Amino acid sequence: MDYHAIFAGAIDRLHGEGRYRVFIDILRNRGAYPNARCFAGHNGPKPIIVWCSNDYLAMGQHPAVIAAMEEALHDVGAGSGGTRNIGGNTHYHVALEAELADLHGKEASLLFTSGYVANEATLATLGRLLPGAIVFSDSLNHASMIAGIRHAGCEKRIFRHNDVAHLEALLAEAPAEAPKVIAFESVYSMDADIAPIAAICDLAERYNALTYLDEVHAVGMYGARGGGVAERDGVAHRVSIIEGTLGKAFGVMGGYIAASRAIVDCIRSYAPGFIFTTSLAPVLVAGALASVRHLKVSSAEREALHQSAARLRQRMIAAGLPVMPAESHIVPLMVGCPVKAKRMSDILLAEYGFYVQPINYPTVPRGTERLRFTPGPAHTEAMMDDLVRALVEVSDRLMLPLAA
Ligand code: PLP
Repeated sequence: MDYHAIFAGAIDRLHGEGRYRVFIDILRNRGAYPNARCFAGHNGPKPIIVWCSNDYLAMGQHPAVIAAMEEALHDVGAGSGGTRNIGGNTHYHVALEAELADLHGKEASLLFTSGYVANEATLATLGRLLPGAIVFSDSLNHASMIAGIRHAGCEKRIFRHNDVAHLEALLAEAPAEAPKVIAFESVYSMDADIAPIAAICDLAERYNALTYLDEVHAVGMYGARGGGVAERDGVAHRVSIIEGTLGKAFGVMGGYIAASRAIVDCIRSYAPGFIFTTSLAPVLVAGALASVRHLKVSSAEREALHQSAARLRQRMIAAGLPVMPAESHIVPLMVGCPVKAKRMSDILLAEYGFYVQPINYPTVPRGTERLRFTPGPAHTEAMMDDLVRALVEVSDRLMLPLAA
């Protein structure tokens, strides 16, 4: 067996399809986001503007978050020292879970080491705990939800993206007595659209199903206190399990679910992905706690984010760039070819100092490769003007069609 040839062949296939992933080596400038420096392909760091970070509100640079992390580091040291069950259940973890339960109006919440792990561990465990369960999953659900559903080993039905009529047809076909879980996201981060949460809750109530809502790209940014789209739409109390991340708008790291005490207790007690791993470092939890608390009472960052997204979108439309229709804070620009998307991103970085990562299959379907912009509160109008000018020039050079 020529192992080396198999691995080399797998990588060659990615090169052949133009979707070999190159990680850009950067450091963000403390307190000065979206300014950063880039170490790729130059002698020494070169200043860049980051346009693709999921630190949507720049909370990773917020003085209150940094101060809380510094204080925790000096107070209790680096790691947690154990799993939650064996020495790693710090007072920070307990306080953050109380804060997150309150954020979503739920009885309890549970921390995981990432949003990915939260989805995988919770869905896999739910499916195993409910005998004969059927999971109804949106066709564009994130890889972590798909992995969880697969590991649950239960039946699944895929409904067309955000298609309530299709979901209803699938629910109606399923045996009435089977336990049902509807798994979906609020903001779909690659297409920038938003699920009809209330209509899905109506169906869940009609067909006696649980609802599992991934609000990873919404927590901190939607709702009066940053409780996500479910809070904004006044339906959080109708969703059985809300899942979120601490690594995007909250600017730190980690994931969580919020739900009834009974559900949280079950996941805490049965999910291997929660049980058998070292808990989050206290310094991370302290930072997340400061961030969640800040965004509960401050809407300034949220308002600035939505303004920024609207401004950039407007400018791109005015310049004739093929910006995708969107209902959220994300601004995706369609390219439709992995090679051109990568080339465009390379030129923007090397010649203009703008960093935007190309998004390829399997993150998005083939032929819909895109550049995904995430303007935040600190991206200025001058930065946007420069970016749009650069995008028009590079589109021209690569002979990419501008929108009609
Ligand atoms: N869910 C969705 C929809 C995501 O886009 C992502 C992440 O990138 C995750 C979950 C995973 O969250 P995390 O980055 O905290 O692991």
